[in-house]
Amino acid sequence: MKKIMKIAAMLTLIALCAVMVISCGKTETPKDTAAPAPDTTAAPGTAAPAPDTAGADDNVIVMCTNASFPPYEFVENGEITGIDAEIAAKIAEKLGMTLKIEDMEFSALIPAVQSGLADFAMAGMTVNEERLQSVNFSTSYATGVQVVIIPEGSDIASLDDLNGKKIGVQLATTGDIYATDDYGEENVEEYATGNDAVLALTQGKVDAVIIDNEPAKAYVAANEGLTILSTEYAVEDYAIAIAKENTELLDKVNAALAELIDDGVVTEIVNKYIG
Ligand code: GLN
Repeated sequence: MKKIMKIAAMLTLIALCAVMVISCGKTETPKDTAAPAPDTTAAPGTAAPAPDTAGADDNVIVMCTNASFPPYEFVENGEITGIDAEIAAKIAEKLGMTLKIEDMEFSALIPAVQSGLADFAMAGMTVNEERLQSVNFSTSYATGVQVVIIPEGSDIASLDDLNGKKIGVQLATTGDIYATDDYGEENVEEYATGNDAVLALTQGKVDAVIIDNEPAKAYVAANEGLTILSTEYAVEDYAIAIAKENTELLDKVNAALAELIDDGVVTEIVNKYIG
C-alpha cells in the first residue's frame, strides 16, 4: 500500500511539474495584447491552475472549458464566468457538489474528459457525430449558429465569396471542420482561441473568421471595423460532454438540466447574457 501511495505521490509531483511548465509557457504568449475583446482573456497571473484529477475529491466536480467564448465563458475580474459557468454552477448545486472550472484550449477539452482530468466539458460545445464517437453528450441546453465575421467594407458578401479567401477559425471547432471541408485546408488558418482568430482578422492576416454567433457578436462589439455576414452558415445544438463510461454522471446531469430548463433557470441565465 505504502509503495503504491509513494508512486501515486511521485506521479502527482511529475504531473504538477508538467502543468507548471505548461502554465509558464502560456503566460509568455503576448498575442492577446493588441486589440482583443475585453474580458475574454485571463489577466496576468490567472493562468489555469494545475488540473485536479476529476473525482480526486468526492465533493468537487471539475468542468473544463475554453474561456475565450463570450458570453458562454469568459474571464471577468480574474474569474471564469458566463452562461455555461452559471448553468454548471446550478447543476453542481443540484448534485450537492462544489464546481471547479479548468481553462484550457478547446482542442484539449474532449481528451480531458476522456482521460478523467475533468468530469465534464461545457464550452458552447456542438454535438456532432465525430465527437459522439469519443464522449457522450447531455441533452442540449442551447442553440448555436456558425456565422462569418468580416471587416466592414469587405468584398465578401456571401458564403460563395469565401472561396479562395483566408479563413480564420478556432482549432478543432465545428467552424474549423466546416471551413476545411468547404473551402480547403490550404485556405484555413487555425488559432488556439476565437480571440486569436479575431485578432488576426483585425490585423488583416485573414479575410474572415467563422465562429459561433454569440461570441461573434461580442467580438464585433469589442473590435471596431468588423461586421457579421447576414447569411447563417450552420445551426447547431450545444450540450455538455461527459466520458462514455460515466453514464451515472450523464444521468444526474440530464436530470438536473431538465429541472433547470423546466423551472426557467436556464432561460433566465441565457437572457442575462443575451439580450
Ligand atoms: N460550437 C463550436 C464547437 O463546438 C465552438 C465552441 C467553442 O469554440 N467553444 O466546435
